[in-house]
Amino acid sequence: MALLRFAPSPTGALHLGGLRTALFNHVMARKLGGKWILRIEDTDQSRLVPGSVDNIRAGLEWAGLNYDYGPGAGGPSGPYFQSERLDLYRKYSNKLLDSGHAYRCFCCPSRLTATREKLLKAGSNATYDRACLKLTDEEVTRRVRAGERFVVRLNHGNNNQISASNDIIFGRLRDAHASLPTDPILVKSDLFPTYHLASVVDDHEMGVTHVLRGEEWLPSLPLHLDLYGALGLNPPTFAHLPLLLNPDGSKMSKRHGDVRVSDFIGKGWEPEAVVNWLAIAGWGRQSTSAPSPDNSSSGSLKPKLDVVTMNELIDEFELTSLTQRRTILDPGKLAFLNRQHLMLKTSAPGDLEALTTRAEVFVKQAYPDSPYANSGYIKRVLLTLSDRLNTLNELPAAAPYFFKPPDLTSPEAIALKQTVSGDKYRLALENTLAELLALSDTDLCTESLKATLHHVQSRLGFRMKEIMNPLRHALTGVKAGPGVGDIVAVLGHRRTVKRLVHALQ
Ligand code: GLU
Repeated sequence: MALLRFAPSPTGALHLGGLRTALFNHVMARKLGGKWILRIEDTDQSRLVPGSVDNIRAGLEWAGLNYDYGPGAGGPSGPYFQSERLDLYRKYSNKLLDSGHAYRCFCCPSRLTATREKLLKAGSNATYDRACLKLTDEEVTRRVRAGERFVVRLNHGNNNQISASNDIIFGRLRDAHASLPTDPILVKSDLFPTYHLASVVDDHEMGVTHVLRGEEWLPSLPLHLDLYGALGLNPPTFAHLPLLLNPDGSKMSKRHGDVRVSDFIGKGWEPEAVVNWLAIAGWGRQSTSAPSPDNSSSGSLKPKLDVVTMNELIDEFELTSLTQRRTILDPGKLAFLNRQHLMLKTSAPGDLEALTTRAEVFVKQAYPDSPYANSGYIKRVLLTLSDRLNTLNELPAAAPYFFKPPDLTSPEAIALKQTVSGDKYRLALENTLAELLALSDTDLCTESLKATLHHVQSRLGFRMKEIMNPLRHALTGVKAGPGVGDIVAVLGHRRTVKRLVHALQ
């Protein structure tokens, strides 16, 4: 069975890059009919940030990325915090020491710095002179017994180096050892393993079949493959995901805007849209069906292809279709995708309920005293506004007139009123009001209002705009918004009549 893992270090909040790695692990696990693990890589005790694990878990849950095994979910090869697996790493480092694939190094930091400088001056690429490799077993035993601090280094002799590494996305990497330090450290002097040893041991012990992780780990791949070799283990398949960039080509960072998943949650973006945005960046989604002749221009097809749901992603996504190029995340595209997903969700009953519950929170914050801040009413408002919202939290400000009487004294309201003459404004409203009063509450709907307005228009001989603008002014006080008929349907008979009476005073 395919087994994948997302292995963040709890050194801060979950970022978009991490979410994308988790997303592709989730998608590939589901696609291959397998499972995935959340593993917390907390062996660098100096970099731990309290609250990170909760933040990471909350971000994954929000995005709908439900890991099968890990903190809170259990699983056959826990614990899933590396700090609780130290005995296991010790067992493997002893194995490497016993077989001569690793050795203890007692060099102190000042000697290491001096050695590095000397090697650099001599034009060598080495970062360490391997002095401790020459210590006799007796000397090592004596120094360990005496309580001297040491690290464990991989004995990276030429005989155990792999010659080339393979990566699904980056292909065959030759001479990939060039950027590695000499005899990399596997166990630190605090007896915690380094990331390299812990990650190889865990991927093997947990039975991971595919390692999908960020491009920043590509230079470590040869070392990991050497470790598998030294331990006599078969490595999993590797795929490194290209870095995410801002549109100007710079690396994504806090200075350039939002990068934390919690920022996106706070701003009311839909998780499906953020997931969609991350998935299509760097993935050229192909149309699965031939374009129809009248819809064949790439301009009209592309936006449609950009909108993808999780099920479609699982169906269509292939790691091999990811490019090696660094991936640009265009913030403008997120707004488009968010609108599309909001519309998709308002048309699915279960999703509409959940959207309404979330919208209710925003409405209650904005209008704590409004009698209309209730879910049944908010659902109607949401359906009326769904194609006009970039994000759900825009709902209260997008149409305040649904929750409180309109402000007819604002410059916008005055300008709207002045689009028709004073006489016409009054005649349009008076006639509409008279017709509405003849209708009962239950008779009033978008259709009956349309008929009413046509009736008024032909009686007065006005242009439609000369009926609609006064009405829109009286009901909303703003020039843009849904159709007047839809607004009336939400407001209902009593409030519509009341607003027309008020506007005529
Ligand atoms: N712990 C590493 C990180 O947070 C993950 C590396 C890996 O997936 O192997 O970036």
